Amino acid sequence: MPKTSIVPCHTYDAAAVRAALIEALTPLGGLDFICPGMRIGIKMNLVTRKNYHAAVTTHPVALAELARLIQERGGQAIIGDSPGGPFSAAFLRSLYGPAGLSIAEKAGAQLNYDTRIEKADFPSGKILKTITYTGWLADCDAVITCAKFKTHAMLGMTGAVKNQFGIVPGLMKPEFHALYPKVSDFCNMLIDLNEFIKPQLAIIDGIDGMEGNGPSAGTVRHIGCLIASDSVYHADVVMADLMGLRPADMPLIHAAHLRGLAPETTDELSLFGSADAFRMEDFKNLPCGNVQFGGREDSALMQIIRSLLTRRPSVDAHACIGCGLCARNCPAGAIQMKGIPKFHLRKCIRCFCCQELCPKEAISVKAARLNHIGR
Ligand code: SF4
Ligand code: SF4
Repeated sequence: MPKTSIVPCHTYDAAAVRAALIEALTPLGGLDFICPGMRIGIKMNLVTRKNYHAAVTTHPVALAELARLIQERGGQAIIGDSPGGPFSAAFLRSLYGPAGLSIAEKAGAQLNYDTRIEKADFPSGKILKTITYTGWLADCDAVITCAKFKTHAMLGMTGAVKNQFGIVPGLMKPEFHALYPKVSDFCNMLIDLNEFIKPQLAIIDGIDGMEGNGPSAGTVRHIGCLIASDSVYHADVVMADLMGLRPADMPLIHAAHLRGLAPETTDELSLFGSADAFRMEDFKNLPCGNVQFGGREDSALMQIIRSLLTRRPSVDAHACIGCGLCARNCPAGAIQMKGIPKFHLRKCIRCFCCQELCPKEAISVKAARLNHIGR
């Protein structure tokens, strides 16, 4: 039975974060699996170019203190991710600065600039029989996924499991959305990535998280905790509970449950620490519908029904600067730039990549049109 822990931590003061990490990891066996000379990959969340105070990326002090603990065991910590956009050293460098990673570098962590892409057969995958992934992870002896506590427009939440989407090289991510437009397929694809990388530990930075228009344009919400687990799925069950949600309602947890990887309630967890003090009944969630999104192969009628039943992206014309990043990254070709983006909702697969990548936070998620009928 995987072990999971939740501990309070109300500040990014380095000493407090270090103490909280030790407290969270101790019931899981600490970092005893690390032997001198091992390379430990810390898979952070570096979704897009944002200052770390915005609670979009894993906080650099959490990464720095984890790196110190790894080094005290004789290991070498390497921090990396492949955010949306090109997987190039120059692009990574441009994001590392705002993410505050010099703090982790000063603590002795290496920042990844290796942009090799590797491929591996994965016959046991449910969706992915071959995994194409960022090569820096191939050189790591173990991976610790260090996620951020945030809402997510497509999946409701982005925690430990979704964090492994970052092992897919950046420019391939829109392609994956296009290939797997159905929520269940997309979730199983993410689970395959997790089963391939098999993070040794999952840590969720929930000191400051994000509510509302997540994962990159929401509002900072102080939560005051760290979650740790030796199962990415179990870590997410705790996080969903803290968000005031039924874990079973979250598509990723449900898909993991169907594969025997996650319980649907916190009662079935081996949990050290109490979640009660951190549960937020007023947390501003982005509820994800149960509609199974279709793809471009859907009939015209299905596309119309889907566009009426599902939430949709919407642009704030005043905030938009017309950069076209959303259109260039739309996997369905559903955005036409006419000064600002125009959404072709019958083509749109509701992946919300446009909302996630917009540098001006100009795109938000609007309720389904049918929700307004009768109001
Ligand atoms: S990415 Fe944002 S700012 Fe750029 S065109 Fe799209 S909506 Fe406008
Ligand atoms: S318009 Fe936005 S939500 Fe729709 S498919 Fe394109 S990127 Fe995804």
